[in-house]
Amino acid sequence: MWGAGVKPSPASKWLGLTGDRAGRIPVDGNLRVTEFDEIYALGDTALTVGTDGKPLPGLAQVAKQQGVYLGRFLKRGPTSTQPFVFKNRGNTAVIGRNAAVFDFGSWTLKGRLAWLLWAFVHVYLLVNFEKRILVSIQWISRYITRQRGARIIDEHQSEVDTDEVSSKSHIMRPPSRLMPKGGR
Ligand SMILES: Cc1cc2nc3c(=O)[nH]c(=O)nc-3n(C[C@H](O)[C@H](O)[C@H](O)COP(=O)(O)OP(=O)(O)OC[C@H]3O[C@@H](n4cnc5c(N)ncnc54)[C@H](O)[C@@H]3O)c2cc1C
Repeated sequence: MWGAGVKPSPASKWLGLTGDRAGRIPVDGNLRVTEFDEIYALGDTALTVGTDGKPLPGLAQVAKQQGVYLGRFLKRGPTSTQPFVFKNRGNTAVIGRNAAVFDFGSWTLKGRLAWLLWAFVHVYLLVNFEKRILVSIQWISRYITRQRGARIIDEHQSEVDTDEVSSKSHIMRPPSRLMPKGGR
């Protein structure tokens, strides 16, 4: 459950469509908005269904995979009909200092090992080498000094304080906001 004061994308209203409760627009297997031939939607804006028939969650890995899929699909042109299939690579969240949880669907991992894995995964997913080094140094420093701070990776700064981010765009929102007070 996300409780961060976010509201649904207005994209369904722009198109005069009725979205679901989260404002998501129904799309077909190729992420094409069902009532428009040349409009596609993905990520939090799109209502896509998984192989189990349930809506895919509003998570970064869904949006990223759809971005890769749609880029390739549009490049290949309308002859390509292979539908988008979400590959669940697992979900993770930090729940305290040295404590995290991983949910891979069929199995779960928790505790210090999960916390270490969480850090590796997030640093690995950062967009460039410089950012990986910078964020790693900041995290290690904050871990040692027990400082708090949201791990929000911004386009202009590698890490910013929660108060500063309300109006900024972001690249990635790691699960640091799930951390309890004092968690690191
Ligand atoms: C508090 C919070 C915590 C989260 N934690 C996690 C997590 O731990 N793990 C996880 O996997 N997912 C998490 N998510 C979900 C994840 O952030 C989203 O699923 C993902 O970012 C969706 O990607 P997107 O590209 O669809 O949308 P976004 O990442 O929101 O990108 C949309 C972009 O469009 C821009 N935009 C909006 N309107 C306009 C406009 N009119 N014109 C031009 N640009 C516009 C926005 O500025 C933004 O840059 C979290 C979300 C929230 C709110």
